[in-house]
Amino acid sequence: MGKLKIAGYWASSCGGCEIATLEIGEKIVELAQVADIVFWPALVDFKYQDVEKMPDKSIDVCLFNGAIQTSDNEHLAKLMRAKSKVLVAYGSCAYEGCIPGLANMSNREGVFQRVYFDTESTVNPNKILPQTSCKVPEGELELPEFYDTVRTLAQTVEVDYFVPGCPPVGKQTWAVLEAIIQGKLPPPGSVVGAGRQILCEECPRTREEKKLKAIYRPHEIIADPEKCLLEQGLLCAGIATREGCGALCPKAGMPCTGCYGPPEGVNDQGARFLSAVASIIDSDDPVEINRILDSIRDPVGTFYRYSLPNSILKRSVIR
Ligand code: SF4
Ligand code: SF4
Repeated sequence: MGKLKIAGYWASSCGGCEIATLEIGEKIVELAQVADIVFWPALVDFKYQDVEKMPDKSIDVCLFNGAIQTSDNEHLAKLMRAKSKVLVAYGSCAYEGCIPGLANMSNREGVFQRVYFDTESTVNPNKILPQTSCKVPEGELELPEFYDTVRTLAQTVEVDYFVPGCPPVGKQTWAVLEAIIQGKLPPPGSVVGAGRQILCEECPRTREEKKLKAIYRPHEIIADPEKCLLEQGLLCAGIATREGCGALCPKAGMPCTGCYGPPEGVNDQGARFLSAVASIIDSDDPVEINRILDSIRDPVGTFYRYSLPNSILKRSVIR
């Protein structure tokens, strides 16, 4: 059997997933023995035309990270789908929309207003905004269109597998690559490189009864290093998040923010997290309940930090 042909692409994301792939460490030598990289702009200088000339389904597997926020992202999603036998939504942005997906609280006009006019560091006296075409002495340049709504990869093209994480941890990335190399992938549509249960199952902190009288941000208290963070009033999303990272954040004293997405069988991670928090508020007094809930500074960023485009809500309504 010849070498596997693998590809990678980086759409709307921070680039962390690209770097995280290198966390496979010395396994990269093993990978190089069985696979050739045929397209991966962050690692090697390929052009889009190189891929467009390839026969359909000639790439064995493409790890596609990043959400779909521009016409360029959409073009590459469709191109990589056509050229790849297996398309993997690699990382939280491709899988669920992640941080770029919080732009769904606004639209293009709102995002541009903030970024190009309102931020404290912006100097833009001529009120210049990105254009989709621009005349220069050499001819006309075309730039991607910025969309009103961020979509996941699976909301754009058919996806074979999903790898959660912001970014996925190295051992899980290798588990996925190893499964591809050995041809031992689960049924299409599966989440790979993670467990099925909630993060609390792999968290070493002790759990007793959950009762919330107050909600804190991490800098507001010194948390007990042994006890469940949620029981101490820190909004830990472990109860609504898929296991797989090894509970990295709670082990380091920080609440999980939910980057591994919903556990098996849960459609809307934010709704699950929200209902879990609501169920442990220790009061029957509406005034006290409101006081406790009002102390959540950023409800969307807390409950839907990684999953707004993939949630039942998808985006806010702009009138
Ligand atoms: S600290 Fe978070 S992950 Fe650990 S048991 Fe508590 S809620 Fe679950
Ligand atoms: S603990 Fe939560 S936020 Fe931290 S890496 Fe794991 S899933 Fe992501």
